[in-house]
Amino acid sequence: MSTLILKFGGTSVADADAIKRVADIVRTQRAAGHRVVAVVSAMSGVTDALTRGVRAAVSGDQSVCRDVAHEILLRTAEACSQLVPSHKEREALLAGARKIMAGYESVCQSVLVLAEVTPRVLDRATACGEPLVASLLAAHLRTLGIESRAIQAEDVVVTDDTYQNAAPLLDETRSRCAHQLAPLIAQGMIPVIGGFIGATLSGVPTTLGRGGSDFSAAILGNALAADEVWIWTDVDGVMSADPRLVPGAKVIPVLSYAEVGELAYFGAAVLHPRTIRPLMDEHIPLWIKNTFHPDVEGTRIESDSSPIRGTLKAVTDVRGLSLITVEGRGMLGVPGIAARTFEAVARCQANVLMISQASSEQSICFVIPSRDVACVQASLEQAFALEIARREIDRVGTLDCVGIVTALGAGMRLGVAGVTSRLFTALDAQDVNIIAIAQGSSECSVSIVVQEQDVERAVLAIHEEVIKQ
Ligand code: ASP
Ligand code: MG
Repeated sequence: MSTLILKFGGTSVADADAIKRVADIVRTQRAAGHRVVAVVSAMSGVTDALTRGVRAAVSGDQSVCRDVAHEILLRTAEACSQLVPSHKEREALLAGARKIMAGYESVCQSVLVLAEVTPRVLDRATACGEPLVASLLAAHLRTLGIESRAIQAEDVVVTDDTYQNAAPLLDETRSRCAHQLAPLIAQGMIPVIGGFIGATLSGVPTTLGRGGSDFSAAILGNALAADEVWIWTDVDGVMSADPRLVPGAKVIPVLSYAEVGELAYFGAAVLHPRTIRPLMDEHIPLWIKNTFHPDVEGTRIESDSSPIRGTLKAVTDVRGLSLITVEGRGMLGVPGIAARTFEAVARCQANVLMISQASSEQSICFVIPSRDVACVQASLEQAFALEIARREIDRVGTLDCVGIVTALGAGMRLGVAGVTSRLFTALDAQDVNIIAIAQGSSECSVSIVVQEQDVERAVLAIHEEVIKQ
């Protein structure tokens, strides 16, 4: 008998029909003899709407909050009427929902009065969506004769106080899970827990960042020493390329933790980026599956995906980027230039997606989102004002409208020369001009910077190499 953490995303719990499908999946796994813990997102769009309401309150408008609360209650009541036939259960559930949404409105009210919102308050407000779904699913499972209970995430997932992006305190979470969840699971009960949410040691609600319910599932998987974590979503698995760009994109059957980490980084938004960490430590496999096609196997993510020499698994692309170059002969052999460069970038809070410097040391180039270019350029020119005046640094150059295309697969580690030469031959055949190149030190990806207009051709050309093998 295995313990499975089943996590269902926003579209998988969007309405009564979706929640019925979820209950079916839970029932099937239970019938197969597994112990099941369900983790749920808020209904799709709910977290966005809650955030919108608070933002409007900051600028003095309370009506958005009211409308949002009303809309969410309507959606909950509508789903409830189809999922929970018992009048008494339904009333109890809706009373709970009204209380949660009244809490939301009063948070908005105080935001309105203060004309300000702190990350801590934002967490409190946005944590309202998940518990509603948790109580709907638990109540529906009970109507199907399956013992189930909605558990407050705040009681079991303990985090630090980095509001909006909290980090779990795993030891504390483990001991809460041992006391509060393990006995229920042992009785055959199915706990249903809202993802995305935790609380500090003193009980103040926190959130794990947008998309954080994947991370919740992984945290609970670690804390409960689960056998597997299954992320149920609305795609068939991790795809070998963006299917909107590449019609021949296919589901990747197996990925390693390292490979999926690089994927999350380079544009394929399959998982909350911190999801893998708690699973890696315990070697817990993760599956990505589709609630709408539950029979499709999906993608399995595990420690060692037994890479096949010289093979690639996926290609991703990120656009809307700019390449910044700091260059000049005066940089050669001078320590501290790179440190000062990235300090200047950090002052703009810009995220650096890729860095490359050749050993001639005459330039450092890196890629950032285009929206940060003005700030970063000014910050660099200020940081190197002296060197620029002395002509030790010639210039801080910017090149807009670039994209990063990344070829990924641990198999390239075992045959780098072969794979990279095939990659570059394929790009050359498509007349793609390569502006910069970097290889991740995990050696399971190669990223190239190209002009935005070349991204599509580059992706298609590399994907041909992915499926050829
Ligand atoms: N509901 C949260 C969000 O939309 C968490 C999640 O769905 O993973 O960000
Ligand atoms: Mg998600």
